[in-house]
Amino acid sequence: MRKLPELSTRYQDPHRYPQGIAYQDGQYLPVAEAKVSVLDYGFLHSDATYDVAHVWEGAFFRLDDHLDRFFRGMAELHMSISLSKTEIADILHTCVALSGLKNAYVEFICTRGTSPSFSRDPRDAENRFLAFVIPFGSVANPDQLERGLHLAVTDILRIPPGSVDPTVKNYHWLDMVKGLYQAYERSAETAVLQDGAGHIAEGPGFNVFAIKDGAVTTPPTGVLLGITRQTVFDICARLSLPCEAAPVPADALRAADEVFITSTAGGVMPVGRIDGKPVGTGGVGPLTARIKETYWQMHGEEGYRHEVDYGE
Ligand code: PLP
Repeated sequence: MRKLPELSTRYQDPHRYPQGIAYQDGQYLPVAEAKVSVLDYGFLHSDATYDVAHVWEGAFFRLDDHLDRFFRGMAELHMSISLSKTEIADILHTCVALSGLKNAYVEFICTRGTSPSFSRDPRDAENRFLAFVIPFGSVANPDQLERGLHLAVTDILRIPPGSVDPTVKNYHWLDMVKGLYQAYERSAETAVLQDGAGHIAEGPGFNVFAIKDGAVTTPPTGVLLGITRQTVFDICARLSLPCEAAPVPADALRAADEVFITSTAGGVMPVGRIDGKPVGTGGVGPLTARIKETYWQMHGEEGYRHEVDYGE
């Protein structure tokens, strides 16, 4: 008779994780100990929404905007949790304070959750909230920030907005991952996906901006309405730079004077090459540099900062 292995009573996780703190079911834990059930539809069906905020030099940046987007996403997906925005803000502050991190990446998630009968009806599941804080990370590394990223305009299409609404931040990322592999095959560092009508959409974790003759343009629809994207609109108004949300044909992106991408993970990040060719005159463009500088300056301004109390 076959000898069965002993049943583990406590899972021993062999995987490695970054340093950080998580919140789950009323408890604060080292991030490596936070777990999602294998039966959670967030895991099984990518049935979840989330948001990512950041802490820079000990303060959250535009946290209220991230919370508003998160609550809108939950409402769109018919999800609800018992926590208010203020309670979530408090949980996130506590996670950051416990982590001690002065520059942090702060992710909070609502999953469809589990249902005791493994029902196929999403209304039977109990929605779950989780959050975690790890060291701040950027889409672009310091070298790429200095010289500009190498972007590939892939022929991969973003999941159509009529199928999965990209304004609800979601984990439907197989199009993005496919785009990344196509970019790597073309010796690029990251990818932009298209919308099926010859326009660019967005990339894995970022919005895309083109600058031509001093005017800044970013796609209006079919993308996540990024908080950093909104910050760029605010910066352009402040610097009196013309800026609009309008379709960006793939060829217009290739012909732009300057291109940059935006994300909470890294801020305003220059693109130096597209499909192997230099953007404009190459390197980091002057308007991109000004927008990037203003973005980081704004982190010190009252209206955008929410100081973390580290209890020191
Ligand atoms: N687009 C997608 C698909 C994203 O996942 C993200 C952020 O992670 C962004 C755009 C940028 O949004 P934000 O500036 O709010 O970080």
